[in-house]
Amino acid sequence: MLTDSHCHLDKVDLEPFENDFDNMINAATENDVSQFLCVCIDTEHFQDVLKPAQQYSNIHCSVGVHPTHKESYSPSVDELIELAIHQEVVAIGETGLDYFRCDDEDMTWQHDMFRNHIRAAIATQKPLIIHTRSAKEDTIRILREENAEKVGGVMHCFAEDWDTAQKSMDLNFYISFSGIVSFNSAKELQEVAKLVPEDRFLIETDSPWLAPVPKRGRPNQPAYVKYVAEKMADLRECSYQHIAKVSTDNFNKLFKIS
Ligand SMILES: [Zn+2]
Repeated sequence: MLTDSHCHLDKVDLEPFENDFDNMINAATENDVSQFLCVCIDTEHFQDVLKPAQQYSNIHCSVGVHPTHKESYSPSVDELIELAIHQEVVAIGETGLDYFRCDDEDMTWQHDMFRNHIRAAIATQKPLIIHTRSAKEDTIRILREENAEKVGGVMHCFAEDWDTAQKSMDLNFYISFSGIVSFNSAKELQEVAKLVPEDRFLIETDSPWLAPVPKRGRPNQPAYVKYVAEKMADLRECSYQHIAKVSTDNFNKLFKIS
């Protein structure tokens, strides 16, 4: 069975599912998806990720503010800790750095928020979900400075080089592959996907964004994590079932799901 380790279920357009959330989940289940991590991108919408996690035993959620959401509320460490108290919250994030279209003021805010999230993760002993774009050096530097290796986590939607993957794994982070790994242009990333040790990778959709080949350009949904699994099996020269098993085992271990 597959696990979609990173999706935004509250952002998926339900129109193709007759405006019924259950239908979207059923479509995923019919495509072998047995678990979901519904990721928070701002605290204003925290209830939207918490609610499905409270309703379904196989949906988990996180709490955090995405680095490109500076217009959102900026929670303190204590506020993050308080929201993370729910048992459905298995991770802190997504947080991190995104220097694509980023000015000095944005950067300062991103650094402060990133540190808040790492401190909240250490205080609650919950792993981190990291978003990093055009900012690999500072991401690794801040993770090190804040001792993020105490909790580890996942480098979500990984699209960096092997060196960054290794530095992340040294800090107890897992590497999560999304639909990007299926893109023809992603040759370097495909090499990383071949090299990552079996006990250190996850797979995800990042729905509703970044649909994998052959659905590229269309709205993404958790059911499509199977295409990521198929691509990973192809790259690593193993079976789809094997990718499903090890990535789900890794997910359960990282997020302490029994
Ligand atoms: Zn995301």
